[in-house]
Amino acid sequence: MGIGDSRPLHVQTLATPPYRDYLPVMAIREILEVPDPRLKQVSLPVEKFDDELRTLVADMFETMYDAPGIGLAAIQVGVPLRVLVIDLQPDDPDAEPEVCTAHGDHHHTHQPVKREPQVFINPELLEESPDFTLYNEGCLSVPEMYAEVERPSSIRARWQDLDGTVHEQEMHGLMATCLQHEMDHLEGVLFIDHLSRLKRQMVLKKLEKLRKAA
Ligand code: ZN
Repeated sequence: MGIGDSRPLHVQTLATPPYRDYLPVMAIREILEVPDPRLKQVSLPVEKFDDELRTLVADMFETMYDAPGIGLAAIQVGVPLRVLVIDLQPDDPDAEPEVCTAHGDHHHTHQPVKREPQVFINPELLEESPDFTLYNEGCLSVPEMYAEVERPSSIRARWQDLDGTVHEQEMHGLMATCLQHEMDHLEGVLFIDHLSRLKRQMVLKKLEKLRKAA
């Protein structure tokens, strides 16, 4: 999932997270973008919890932080496996506010964010709340495009971690939205597929224009 317009741009420059400790080499992988047909693929369950999987996950975090984004599915880097990484990068209340100079002379401060990397392997949706939330979603595979999508406000999910251990948890707010967005990728579904055909075509045309202008 992409980061909305309001997020500060300095998230790329954050301190090194602990997951680097066990992996010496990581690489930023290329993110597939619409209309790449691979994004429509249904991803396969992970069966081997090995070093190859660890490398994939480490690369996915590196790629997501670099983009920057808050969620990424393996198929977005061309690997059709049921693997997701999410880091909502919440504000760090204990950190000193940083002076931002990104907007010319108008100096103001941002609260630095902290990293909370989470891996979801073979995730399953167990329950959905009957109430819905609208969220202005973006996606690293549909760059710079945002649209409101309605999804269940809370979910109960089950998944495995890098060791294959099963976890189950109820999620609310942005975490619930983000996990549902990323789980859609595993079925070959993008957030724009939740829009009306007209709206979807508008988004795709806008993206095409943007690419031509670049
Ligand atoms: Zn996405």
